[in-house]
Amino acid sequence: LEQRLKEIEYRIPKKYPEVNFLTYKDRKRVLITGGAGFVGSHLVDRLMMEGHEVIVVDNFFTGRKRNVEHWIGHENFELIHHDIVNPLFIEVDQIYNLASPASPPHYMHNPVKTIKTNTVGTINMLGLAKRVGARVLIASTSEVYGDPEVHPQTESYWGHVNPIGPRACYDESKRVSETLAYSYGKQENVAVRVARILTRTVLVCIATMAGWCPTSSSRHSPAKTLLSVIGIMAPKRPGTPTGASEKKRKNNIYGSGKQTRSFQYVSDLVDGLIKLQNNNYSLPVNLGNPDEHTIEEFASIIHTMVGGKSHIIHKDAMEDDPQRRKPDITRANNILGWQPLVPLQQGIKKTVEYFRRELMRSKHSERN
Ligand code: NAD
Ligand code: UDP
Repeated sequence: LEQRLKEIEYRIPKKYPEVNFLTYKDRKRVLITGGAGFVGSHLVDRLMMEGHEVIVVDNFFTGRKRNVEHWIGHENFELIHHDIVNPLFIEVDQIYNLASPASPPHYMHNPVKTIKTNTVGTINMLGLAKRVGARVLIASTSEVYGDPEVHPQTESYWGHVNPIGPRACYDESKRVSETLAYSYGKQENVAVRVARILTRTVLVCIATMAGWCPTSSSRHSPAKTLLSVIGIMAPKRPGTPTGASEKKRKNNIYGSGKQTRSFQYVSDLVDGLIKLQNNNYSLPVNLGNPDEHTIEEFASIIHTMVGGKSHIIHKDAMEDDPQRRKPDITRANNILGWQPLVPLQQGIKKTVEYFRRELMRSKHSERN
């Protein structure tokens, strides 16, 4: 024990990525709820590198400590295990309220909890913002447009949502979170920003296309999951034993495959969120990539990129699955000067590389 205590006492200080230095005046205390999730953890990296103080609040429903572990112990960083359905009393300048399950299997897993998180949880964050005079950005979603009857969707479109369908727990509670934001804005003078994030970041989609139940927080996934994604997608190398890589890749397509989505890369989204938070504009803003593809086209792009044999399985359409999804981003462009910079092919390429790296890393840590 003595020896181990010595090791703790004299251990070499952990090395962190070098962060920008900000003076006290410019440095903000930023709360990110859901900061251990997929989008949140990338936002954490950006704000930490910019030199801000970042407090992550997460209940680890879909997020993982591993997504932010590289900052644990840094003087500008704090991780709090907390469920936003319960009140939280801290002092901050800005809040990014991202806490909410985001993918259908997750939000449908416990619909009542999803509703509580987006309503009671949002009230708590708005209450906190009111008490400390913080500015709060609500992560809303294109799902507020439901299965849209107008195309492309501008922010002025009120939506077409089935209030009692399987997706309603998410769609309707996100709609209420927007209503709450503007009610707190009007009644309590809370400075609010509403980002309507457009469908699925590329990484999640690749995993979905590989037939793996998407966990959007899979920034760092366990080896088994990675094996199932890469193993199925990767072409067989000459001489490798028969295994997952030799199996035909199974791409599940729900419905006809003619339904469209517009995919954006996470770094573009993070840019947009930061620009919106720091702008004076308070009405909802679509943040998405207007580059629209059918799900079939998407499957074929992935196939071309990763090679190997592919086998598409058509399954029954999901209930209330939106048929067309393409954001009108004129507002984001005019007001924030924002537009997505990473094209789909490049996003997929980066994502595939990421999965390959993670696979190597997991294999390495399994061996040791
Ligand atoms: P994610 O599941 O990876 O992250 C959500 C995080 O919130 C997780 O870390 C989870 O543990 C945490 N969380 C959930 N409920 C909580 C609670 N009650 N208290 C505290 N923490 C809680 O999802 P994501 O893709 O990073 O999405 C982030 C936000 O963006 C969500 O609000 C989501 O609705 C919104 N959004 C995402 C997309 C997308 O394509 N990723 C699209 C539209 C909207
Ligand atoms: N709240 C919170 N942190 C704060 C301030 C408020 O979690 O720093 C919670 C508070 O407990 C309440 C909710 O936010 O449940 C709404 O607060 P508000 O002051 O708007 O309303 P009230 O407390 O009057 O219901």
